[in-house]
Amino acid sequence: MTSCHSAGLPVAVELHNDELPLSFLSRVAKANGFQSLVEFCDIVGLDKLKVRSGNERTLSKLAVWTGVPVSRLARFAIGPGRMLNFGGQALRRHQMYTMGMRFCPACVADDLCKGTRRSGVRPYLRASHILKVVVDCPTHGVPLQYRPDEIEFGDDLVGNKPAIVETSELRLVRIPHPANAYFASRIGGQPGSEFLDMIPAYLALELCEVLGELDRVARSASLSKETPFSKESENQIFRGFDIAKIGLPAISIFLSNHVQTAIHQGRSLRFVYSPVWQWLKNEGENPAYSALFSFFRDHAQANVPISRGQAFFGA
Ligand SMILES: [Zn+2]
Repeated sequence: MTSCHSAGLPVAVELHNDELPLSFLSRVAKANGFQSLVEFCDIVGLDKLKVRSGNERTLSKLAVWTGVPVSRLARFAIGPGRMLNFGGQALRRHQMYTMGMRFCPACVADDLCKGTRRSGVRPYLRASHILKVVVDCPTHGVPLQYRPDEIEFGDDLVGNKPAIVETSELRLVRIPHPANAYFASRIGGQPGSEFLDMIPAYLALELCEVLGELDRVARSASLSKETPFSKESENQIFRGFDIAKIGLPAISIFLSNHVQTAIHQGRSLRFVYSPVWQWLKNEGENPAYSALFSFFRDHAQANVPISRGQAFFGA
């Protein structure tokens, strides 16, 4: 074990641009000869949960010890509250895996092939992988794996190296849906959709989800009763993304087709916009939603015949 000096740790570790802070802390501990992340935190008096949450005082200590600025350490911290600033993107907590480890086995296998440090120092956790919508690794096309525990990331994975390598040999078993790449790249600050880039990331995800739900409802055999808005599936987001990525004109055409199909089939129009209304009805006070609220309300009023004075879509 290496002793720790207040001015800095003996062995410097490079923070990857897309690395989670707890992953970095784990690698720093291993690189400096500590047996475990827990041992390191106990000896130096650091709370790993405060590293993950981006506590300023805790990250300031870590910055002095590692030479990495607080701003970089905090970039992918998972702070308190339901709304998070993650890599400069606004996301809701439930849209991410905020606990445990989510990783691509092929990325881990690649990491293990790089560098000369001990194996426990090389693999790292990518920030984009903790978004729930990113189900496949955008680089390798391999389904991401999740573990609820987060002990000793590097050594824990290295201990399962045969399984990691075996899984990584299944690279590109499927082509990731473009939504994978879009939201993963957005976490890294890369633009990908002229329309979706203009709205907050959490709102872009919700819009994709609700359009996917509308698509599901449109395809369902019966609209005789109100269909609950389900939020369970990333596939739903993927279907919605294919529409939303193009922008409002494409969404308008999709909605109009949805209405015409319902009219042709003699279905009740009241339920056509139901998923949208269920989504927006509690967000009326949130200015981030106002433009989309107006868009959907205007479309509903222009396409669904209603009696004078009849309330529809909250109008
Ligand atoms: Zn990968």
